[in-house]
Amino acid sequence: MIIISSRIQKGVIQVGLLLLIAIITWKVLHRPPTIKPDVYPYLTRMSTGLVEQCLNVHRHSPTISWEYLLAISSTLSEKEAQPLIEQLRNNVPFSDLNWGTIPSSMRKIVLRHWEILKDYPFYQPNKYRFPVSGTTWFEDSFGADREGGIRRHEGTDLFGKEGTPIISICDGKIEQLGWNRLGGERVGVRGDDGNYYYYAHLQTISPWLVKGKRIEAGDSVGSMGHTGDAITTPDHLHFGIELPNGEWINPYPFLKVWQNWSK
Ligand SMILES: [Zn+2]
Repeated sequence: MIIISSRIQKGVIQVGLLLLIAIITWKVLHRPPTIKPDVYPYLTRMSTGLVEQCLNVHRHSPTISWEYLLAISSTLSEKEAQPLIEQLRNNVPFSDLNWGTIPSSMRKIVLRHWEILKDYPFYQPNKYRFPVSGTTWFEDSFGADREGGIRRHEGTDLFGKEGTPIISICDGKIEQLGWNRLGGERVGVRGDDGNYYYYAHLQTISPWLVKGKRIEAGDSVGSMGHTGDAITTPDHLHFGIELPNGEWINPYPFLKVWQNWSK
């Protein structure tokens, strides 16, 4: 009797251990990717004028990578950047650039910025689509007070005519669909890049969308409206970007660039 019960005890412990290992493995495999703290401050505080300037140079000299151009221009002064860009224009490889008197610490920052631009290609021409297909106007209102300071505005409002078509900015999967109190008719897409893209206050949601199904960049999400807490405001799309760690970031600089640089 004692032998049997100790065998059962052993069995229970073994099953428990296996279960624990399975839970830990699942957690490790499903944890959100860590985002280094310098990534989004760098990307979202970028001057959109500078981004467009670099994309223009790249368009006329396609052999110069836009990531190198932007990393150099956004890190160094114009006086320091110009000779480097000139060398790139003359087909000098990045690894062979003559950095002159620029200290190696600055060179390291340029390289880090290049790495961020390569890994998070928000400014890459034609990578992301602009969400409003029609006339729209918008400004940077990220962080503005809402409901008398109870909460902050966690996105960008793009104003336009009711019914203006709204499209998905990227490929991904439909994660949220339908009504919520603040967003009204809203669609949430988990982009293939891991971020959550939020389209709110829609007048109508595209009828073919199904929760859990794929959506491609440029596919219809619905049409612009003023549903949810926007019921008394002019028609607009509230567009938000939430990182996998739950942080909402400012979409404004990306939208400014996508408006002119997406298909
Ligand atoms: Zn809004």
